[in-house]
Amino acid sequence: MKIKDIFNGEKTVFSFEVFPPKRDNSIDTIYKTLDELQDLKPDFISVTYGASGSLMDNSTCEIASAIRNKYGLLSAAHLTCVNSTESEVRQVLQRLSESGVENILALRGDYIPDVAPKEDFKHASDLIEFIKKEGYDFGISGACYPEGHLDSENPVDDIKNLKKKVDAGAEHLISQLFFDNRIFYDFVEKVRIAGIDVPIEAGIMPVVNKKQIERMVSLCGASLPSKFTRMMSKYENNPEAMRDAGIAYAVNQIVDLVSHGVDGIHLYTMNNPYIARRISESVRSLF
Ligand code: FAD
Repeated sequence: MKIKDIFNGEKTVFSFEVFPPKRDNSIDTIYKTLDELQDLKPDFISVTYGASGSLMDNSTCEIASAIRNKYGLLSAAHLTCVNSTESEVRQVLQRLSESGVENILALRGDYIPDVAPKEDFKHASDLIEFIKKEGYDFGISGACYPEGHLDSENPVDDIKNLKKKVDAGAEHLISQLFFDNRIFYDFVEKVRIAGIDVPIEAGIMPVVNKKQIERMVSLCGASLPSKFTRMMSKYENNPEAMRDAGIAYAVNQIVDLVSHGVDGIHLYTMNNPYIARRISESVRSLF
């Protein structure tokens, strides 16, 4: 089943993101996480790929396949292109297809410091065109940036480029994390005016410690509203209170987004089923 088909106007979609275990952790750790996430009945789970620009091992494919075939849930494999050749991407597509993965989140990926990118793909839209040209029948999603992508000269061009991505074949978008819902609403309004009419899921990252958020913000440039920074300063030395406040903040964001009629919520679970459960249980009746 394609992800686009679950956006049928009847309910708000609720989905999760997980990442493959870091190099020194066994692959089994993700299955323990998935055992618990499965109970929360997400509409689909996406699996990141070669995060921080490094090239992929096979774990994204293995995990996305297990989500589909072992857990019986819809899955999406993230796939980046800027550090790969066409032939490398072709091999990954073949593997995903043979493993029963039906959906791909097609991404440019980040450049690896001190490593020249390969020449075959420059943008996510090139990857999408390539997937289509190769004749694969994957559902295709793309990323979008409510505060603009960091490489982008201005928000207008960023939205024009997003339109190119959708015109190339992205049928569904997942947003970068954000902490101020007004930014997301303004973005969606502009995107709709630009003629982009595919479903857009809001990416929500629950903040559980100050270090984590500082790292994320330095990577993606999300702005932090004062009520958020106040919360971080008040609880930075009290991990339990920080975790509870972070969960409450995410729940408030979700309630507001769903009340505003958002197409879907994509929860960055950070492979933490405890936090995913607390959030899911708080908002389950909204979906
Ligand atoms: P693009 O859509 O190619 O956009 C990148 C820049 O190029 C933007 O400034 C855009 O305006 C411009 N642009 C786009 N298309 C064109 C065009 N046709 N012509 C001219 N300019 C253009 N990274 C990972 O390594 N692994 C992951 O699993 C991963 N998952 C992610 C999931 C989500 C939901 C998000 C939001 C990001 C994820 N990332 C991941 C990070 C992502 O790879 C980076 O943000 C990357 O820098 C941009 O990827 P993109 O696909 O959005 O790029």
